[in-house]
Amino acid sequence: MTDATGPEAHAEPRPARVPFDAIRLGGEIQRRIGAKTVRDEILARHTTMRVGGPADLYVVVHNAFELRALVRFVRTRGLPHFLLGRGSDIVVSDAGIRGVVIHVRAEGLEVAGDTLIAEAGVPLARIATEARSAALTGAEFTLAIPGSLGGAVWANAGAHGVEIADVLETADVVRADGTEARLPAAALGFGYRDSRLKHPTDGGIRDVVVAASLRLRPEDPALVAARLDEIRRWRREHQPLGIPSAGSVFRNPAGDSAGRLIDAAGLKGRRIGGAVVSEQHANWILNDRKGTAMHVRSLADLMRAAVRDRFGVDLIPEVEFVGDWPGTGEGPAEAAMGGR
Ligand SMILES: Cc1cc2nc3c(=O)[nH]c(=O)nc-3n(C[C@H](O)[C@H](O)[C@H](O)COP(=O)(O)OP(=O)(O)OC[C@H]3O[C@@H](n4cnc5c(N)ncnc54)[C@H](O)[C@@H]3O)c2cc1C
Repeated sequence: MTDATGPEAHAEPRPARVPFDAIRLGGEIQRRIGAKTVRDEILARHTTMRVGGPADLYVVVHNAFELRALVRFVRTRGLPHFLLGRGSDIVVSDAGIRGVVIHVRAEGLEVAGDTLIAEAGVPLARIATEARSAALTGAEFTLAIPGSLGGAVWANAGAHGVEIADVLETADVVRADGTEARLPAAALGFGYRDSRLKHPTDGGIRDVVVAASLRLRPEDPALVAARLDEIRRWRREHQPLGIPSAGSVFRNPAGDSAGRLIDAAGLKGRRIGGAVVSEQHANWILNDRKGTAMHVRSLADLMRAAVRDRFGVDLIPEVEFVGDWPGTGEGPAEAAMGGR
């Protein structure tokens, strides 16, 4: 997807390459931070599209303390690193990701009055159910989005007419230089499926979300439960669930729907290798479990080109293509570098 993912995917400048010694670094991370490290972990296991090659060094962090410490560790050493949430908005290349992949599984959560405070790795569905248990409304839309809170802030994820920007009060972030800040929602530059986190200025290094607080409202739990049931029903009827995918591939262009345009271009059911355009929702690429990342990317390229040729509309990818993409101009170590 050479031009298809151009500015959205990997246009950030990357820091100077530093020698990367996974064995030595793995030992040091385990000693200093206490987090287990794995070399050459296959990332397909950790993405909903079920594609993606190895990470040089894969580290799971289980709480905010480990997350902060590891982000500071890699940043002070200028090491390439990538933050992985639930892997539901990314397509990792078959060649995988060079550097350190930090899998955010920090899942602390508490409710104080009308405020729900959660660490970045909390699954969105849990936010919906914990809010219901606390008789709070406003977070129901998160129920069926299979991401983490950190990934949702990055994407300004939303559904059913509500998005994270509507309920987020503050986000605790680690910045490019390793310092921390508690940012109000207004400082996060939220737009349609967009946030300031997607557009770093400081040498291309992104802010990392460690935790966030959501401002909700009191509500009868029975009413909240009924809304959650309605969301479950809607998803079952409208979306191809249970098959590997990354949800919507492209953002909706202003005043239109990417799915409608792709359908009108006659692409439902179109296949490249194991990747196929969903018959149910044309803006979704499904992986029949034999698909590779290159199949997915080639199909997304084809969809974008077809819609451009037919309707003159340039679809912007919503999913992020990360890792090394040989032959696409994104050479080794080019993508996913610099704290993406
Ligand atoms: C079946 C299905 C349905 C979906 N439905 C919806 C929907 O209705 N609405 C919607 O908006 N999206 C939807 N999505 C897309 C996706 O679930 C969301 O965008 C989600 O917020 C991504 O979160 P994640 O943890 O999976 O992020 P990942 O895919 O792991 O990462 C995405 C990006 O976020 C960055 N990131 C992750 N964690 C952090 C962090 N702590 N700090 C900073 N950056 C971080 C990553 O580095 C990466 O650049 C759907 C996806 C699927 C597979």
